[in-house]
Amino acid sequence: MIILKYAADIAAAINRSGNDNQLIGFVPTMGALHEGHISLVKKSRQVCGITVASIFINPTQFNNAEDLEKYPVTIEKDIYLLERTGCDILFLPDVREIYPNGTEINEHFDLGYLESILEGKYRPGHFQGVCQVVKRLLQIIKPTHLFLGQKDYQQCMVIKKLLALMHSDSKVVICPTLREENGLAMSSRNLRLNAMQKDRAAAIYRTLLFIQQNEGAIPGVLKEDAGKKLEENDFIVDYVEIANAADLRTVEEWESRGLVALIAASINGVRLIDNILLSE
Ligand code: AMP
Repeated sequence: MIILKYAADIAAAINRSGNDNQLIGFVPTMGALHEGHISLVKKSRQVCGITVASIFINPTQFNNAEDLEKYPVTIEKDIYLLERTGCDILFLPDVREIYPNGTEINEHFDLGYLESILEGKYRPGHFQGVCQVVKRLLQIIKPTHLFLGQKDYQQCMVIKKLLALMHSDSKVVICPTLREENGLAMSSRNLRLNAMQKDRAAAIYRTLLFIQQNEGAIPGVLKEDAGKKLEENDFIVDYVEIANAADLRTVEEWESRGLVALIAASINGVRLIDNILLSE
């Protein structure tokens, strides 16, 4: 695996790689890698002739300074995992390389209502920061395929919207959420939980399954019961939502197909998100 810090070196490295099918897969991450991230790299290797991963903790997408400060860093292990999985290139830029003109946001991405609901509502400015960094990374790497995790469901939709705004024809491949044995979605932030908290945190997934098992009940009642289950497990709940899977508009009545349940909640100051597709 080649590790590059400078954007200017990426194109030459991709050209030199002897890419046989001309497809360039890209897996953007913020590091502290786990098997969920690695599953995206594996998928990219199945589809594309060359796989580029990036590790960059993007300051502009953190709406909470403490969250940024406490974001876990495990770079040596990350490099080992990527190398072992057969990733071809790791792009490891510093902040100046991504933001040569500073981190002030000077471009506004028109994400429509996606920006004012769920994660957009609870993390103001977050998706503008995501778009800023992803746009820059796409311009540097020019991937044909972008591999993203379903765990960040709304982010997948935002990035699809960004690609449309950029008139990019990169394809988005959404990969399933990998989970711990107890059902807890793998997340870099789980590193901030001890074993007991991780056990409790599995309540998020159990609650999503509870919603799935009760499909057909009145969404308002179901969401309230789900919220109580989380609170019983020491969570502070931002939202439990049932929405149309295609556009994330919330539903008041049960629709027979294509819904998604989404949860964001904090345990011990660590904010976790997860979701499950319903009525498939
Ligand atoms: P992050 O490093 O958290 O920004 O995540 C980088 C990419 O990995 C995003 O596309 C995430 O959706 C994806 N990802 C994070 N957790 C998981 C997981 N448990 N399973 C699959 N993909 C994941």
